[in-house]
Amino acid sequence: MKLVVATRSAHKLAEIRTILAVVPGLEVLDLNEAGVQWSPAEEELEPYETFEENAHSKARYYQERTGLSTVADDSGIAVDALGGAPGVHSKRFAPAADLDGEARDKANNQHLLHRLAGVPEASRTARYVCVAVMVTPGGDRVVCRGEAPGRILEEEQGTGGFGYDPLFFDPELGRTFGQISPGAKHARSHRGKAFRALARHLISES
Ligand code: IMP
Repeated sequence: MKLVVATRSAHKLAEIRTILAVVPGLEVLDLNEAGVQWSPAEEELEPYETFEENAHSKARYYQERTGLSTVADDSGIAVDALGGAPGVHSKRFAPAADLDGEARDKANNQHLLHRLAGVPEASRTARYVCVAVMVTPGGDRVVCRGEAPGRILEEEQGTGGFGYDPLFFDPELGRTFGQISPGAKHARSHRGKAFRALARHLISES
């Protein structure tokens, strides 16, 4: 079976490829391999206030362009002291419209620390959320959700992972997601949980 993984993020793609490698006979294609050129329309695919609606919107858009089963995820971090923010707005949390890539991640992390200034350790709880939605050529939709609980530190620790990982402390591991190996992150992460559920579904259907 062929499955398009619809993301332009190299980090996410690498994580998802590794997690789905357990599915026998699955051929994973990225958007370039599936022949989908970047288009400005892609910037408008996540207008919703839920991870599920945004992931479904992306999966449907790319499924229509590839004709193949396609999975997209929407993810982010929900911080309790901020009423669940930034949530679906995690990617563009810092008010700096012109930044991208690592500069964007850095600005987001600084903004998060700024918003949590003075909030004590016990109240800095948060969770990463990932919703993966697969849409098939027949119009079926499979929704898999994963969450990872943790806490936002007062300064970055580690240089691994991406985005908020150096600030995201996993209490069971006693480390941030920026301080652990990719394999250890998959075992604990929101994306690992959501895509392992998808892998189980694909195996059960084959
Ligand atoms: P998406 O591409 O719309 O799903 O945006 C997800 C955003 O949430 C990313 O740009 C990051 O800021 C944040 N995020 C999601 N998953 C992770 C993760 O595993 N580590 C660090 N940041 C993440």
